[in-house]
Amino acid sequence: MSTLELKNVNKIYPNGFHAVHDFNLTIDKGEFIVFVGPSGCGKSTTLRMIAGLEDISSGDFNIDGKRVNELGPREREVAMVFQSYALYPNMTVFDNIAFGLTLQGVDDDVIEERVLKTAKILGLTDYLDRFPRALSGGQRQRVAIGRSIIRKVGIFLMDEPLSNLDAKQRVTMRSEIAQIHREAGATTIYVTHDQTEAMTLADRIVVMKDGYVQQIGTPKELYFDPVNVFVAGFIGEPPMNFIHANVKNGRIAVGENSLDLTPVLKNRMAQYEGKRIVFGFRPEAIELGKKEDAYQINALVELSEMLGDNTNVYVVAGEERAILKVDPHDTPEMDAAITFSIPYKSVYLFDEETEMVIK
Ligand code: ATP
Repeated sequence: MSTLELKNVNKIYPNGFHAVHDFNLTIDKGEFIVFVGPSGCGKSTTLRMIAGLEDISSGDFNIDGKRVNELGPREREVAMVFQSYALYPNMTVFDNIAFGLTLQGVDDDVIEERVLKTAKILGLTDYLDRFPRALSGGQRQRVAIGRSIIRKVGIFLMDEPLSNLDAKQRVTMRSEIAQIHREAGATTIYVTHDQTEAMTLADRIVVMKDGYVQQIGTPKELYFDPVNVFVAGFIGEPPMNFIHANVKNGRIAVGENSLDLTPVLKNRMAQYEGKRIVFGFRPEAIELGKKEDAYQINALVELSEMLGDNTNVYVVAGEERAILKVDPHDTPEMDAAITFSIPYKSVYLFDEETEMVIK
């Protein structure tokens, strides 16, 4: 287990593209960190700089307090699982898992003991004599992970390791990865663009966009206290609803509804008078009907999607559209006129210009 420290790390590719800007993060021993963000935001580049596969253009990268910018991947003692993993087709599962240790010249009996232990953690004990072609995608992925964790390194890096699996296998492997982390305890950095993977696996999440860190926090912090519109919209499914509006006499119009911002803006009312703001609320924060201490909104139902445990109701109020998550037993009819309530405490306001949350 190792402590990692990235200080003002930048990546400028040889063609001049600035892919990562001033990345700062300290990772504790044994922590599970997830880098999340849309395609091209710099997640893989950052991971590859940590692995030693990509030069760091400026800034410091320290492992256990020692600067390692110039060290190669092997000397950094990291294990990496990639999106596309290549198993050796002519080797059995046993030999694939053992490969790294065999190369290091580790004794056969030690290899056998470690392979058996690794296979047990990964549920591969019954498959050790098989060749990769006789395995499912999920089993192959587990062999690839086994090949990495058997090395007992302090740092474990994973770049979208589940992206080649189907939805069901992804859910199973996700919990297995959590389990492996609990047992092996290695400091782990995991890259994904899937916010569910991020939320379920991470001790802390790093949300990135266009090469910039947007926010670093626990899943709970990101969900309840997003710093800006991007993070608020990225974490949560369906995403947070946003209504862009002008503040006039302390109110905003949402279709026919006029909402008094006093309960949420309080003493900052004057500051935002005449300005554009973004009014945000999560689909799951609403209640149908008229409630106390809440905004009451009249809207029309455009569509309902029954998902089993809940229904997503698409509503429109004037020009504004929103998604509401409701109990399937309460699903309103199509074209029905409904009233729903958004508790004041569940409202997020953002400055439209800076996109930063108004606290
Ligand atoms: P994805 O989820 O699609 O893998 P990512 O967040 O991992 O995306 P990176 O692969 O880190 O993104 O790429 C970040 C940016 O750097 C992208 O705009 C990409 O086009 C650019 N980039 C990556 N490799 C190079 C390179 N060798 N030269 C120039 N630009 C590059």
